Formats: sequence, C-alpha cells, structure tokens
Amino acid sequence: MNTTGFIDLHSDTIMVCNREKLDFINPKTHISLDKVAPGTHWAQTYAIFVPDEKRGQDAVDYYRECVRYFCGQLEKYSGKLAQVRNAADVDNAFEAGKFAGILAVEGGAALAGRMEMIEELAKDGVRFLTLTWNGPNEIGSGSVTHNGLSDFGREAIAEMERQNIIVDVSHLNDEGFADLCKIASKPFIATHSNSRAICGHSRNLTDAQFCEIRDRGGIVGLNYYRNFIVDGGETTSISDLLKHVHHFLELGGENTIALGSDFDGADIPGYLDSVEKVDNLYDALLADGLGKELAEKILFGNAYNFIRNNLK
Ligand SMILES: [Zn+2]
Repeated sequence: MNTTGFIDLHSDTIMVCNREKLDFINPKTHISLDKVAPGTHWAQTYAIFVPDEKRGQDAVDYYRECVRYFCGQLEKYSGKLAQVRNAADVDNAFEAGKFAGILAVEGGAALAGRMEMIEELAKDGVRFLTLTWNGPNEIGSGSVTHNGLSDFGREAIAEMERQNIIVDVSHLNDEGFADLCKIASKPFIATHSNSRAICGHSRNLTDAQFCEIRDRGGIVGLNYYRNFIVDGGETTSISDLLKHVHHFLELGGENTIALGSDFDGADIPGYLDSVEKVDNLYDALLADGLGKELAEKILFGNAYNFIRNNLK
C-alpha cells in the first residue's frame, strides 16, 4: 500500500459479520483484516448499529450480543487487532504490529432510555455514540424527522461527557443539532457525513454545522455512500468525493476532515468499495495538489489528534 496509515471513524462490519456468521477475515465484506498490509497504522471504528425498530430490552440484548461477537473476534485475531480506548492504546497496538479497533454504537436506541446503560457502554470501551439513526429514539430524532432532543437526550449527553463517550451527530436532524449546540460542553463529531452544499441530502452537514463542529474542536468523517457523494447517487469518479474535501477546506476544515467510510453499511462506488482502496483516495488527494502533509492529516492526523485530545 502507498498509505502508511489511516483512521476510519465508521463502519457497520459488526452488523454484517454477526448476522451472517462471518469472521473479521472473510472475502465478502468491505473490511477484512487481511486486506490491509501488516504494519500499516490502521485504526478502524467498528460500530454496533442498533436499528430504530429495536426498542427497550430488545435493543439492549442486541447491543450485548454484538459486544460478545466483537470480543470473540478480538480473541480470535488477537495477533492482528487490539481494541483501543485512547491514543496510548493506539500507539501500543501499532508498536506491537497490530491494527487498532475502536468500538462505537450507532443509534441511541441501544440505551433503551436507561441512563445506567451509558456506564455499561463506557466499560465496554465504546468511544463514539451516534445519537440517532434516521428515525426517533429515546434521545432524539434522525434526519427524516423534525423533533429536537428529548429531556432524556439532554441528560444523556451530559452523562456521555462525564463517561468520556464522544457524541456523534451523523444522522441527527437539524433541530437536534441546534439543541445539542446549546448544551454540549465538549467537542462532538460527525463520524460519517459529507457536505450538504455539494450533495443536498439531509444526512449531510450544512456549512454552519460543519463550522460549528470545527470551532468546537471536533472532526468530520467523509462518507463513501454514493447518495451522500452526489445527488442521485451516480458517481464513477473519485473527483466527486474530492468536491466535498475542497468545500470543507474552503470552510477552514484543514484540521477537521477525516474518514468515515460507512463500509458494510452502504452502497459504495467501485473506486472506494474495499478497505485497501483508501490508497485511491490518498493518491487522488496528492494528484489534486493537496500535498502529502494535508493528505496525511485527512487520512490519519486529524482523527489521531482528536483521539489524543479527547479520549482518556
Ligand atoms: Zn450510518
């Protein structure tokens, strides 16, 4: 690989592998531990996606099933992958020649409206919690709705900040984003969202939202889902994704842009549809004249700095 290191803020690989009884090395999923050259400084977020339809104890049971699956894979591939909670863990994993695995949860339904679940997530090593998926849950409501945060949601955000779990606004609707800005005291992130100015999908960030995340010291992961790259989803050239990079750079996002592939949870165009194809993105950034330093910040440095500054 040309790429010496990269950090990906979002994938749904746990969902697919757990459902289809696959291991973290398999020929079917976008992410497989054998696709990236050993020694590459690769930190991968593995999110547990809890759908809006799973509620109450069902959601909690499903979350725990996925944690058991993740722990089983960590054990099976202990020579290749280590779970990490902070930058020191990331450094140690790389020094030992391993990849770094970051556990996350996508969908606040996982809490089932119980504040004590936040402590359970923290103990399991969950580092990012995507507050909503597309619809409503106990915390707030996603991008196909217009409700803001609930009272439980406001309290949950304060508790997440106490427990050192990072708030993820990808999927959150604009009303919820505005509510969050009033109460958040720590940086928050968008793990897998693009620019709404370039592709007008409500899952993407407005310029004002991007700037808010930037000003608070957060990061934004570029999403490879074709419908968030171009209106209508027809994209055959990586230059379409680079338009989002350029727009975010124009907004002063040099230290904010990161990667949030959405691997194994989305329809991804051929130029990026497998984890090792991050090389294509790196090469395209260089060919576009961004320079090595900036390309490496987008692939690795910005996310690494965020982890170092915000995860204990
Ligand atoms: Zn998602």
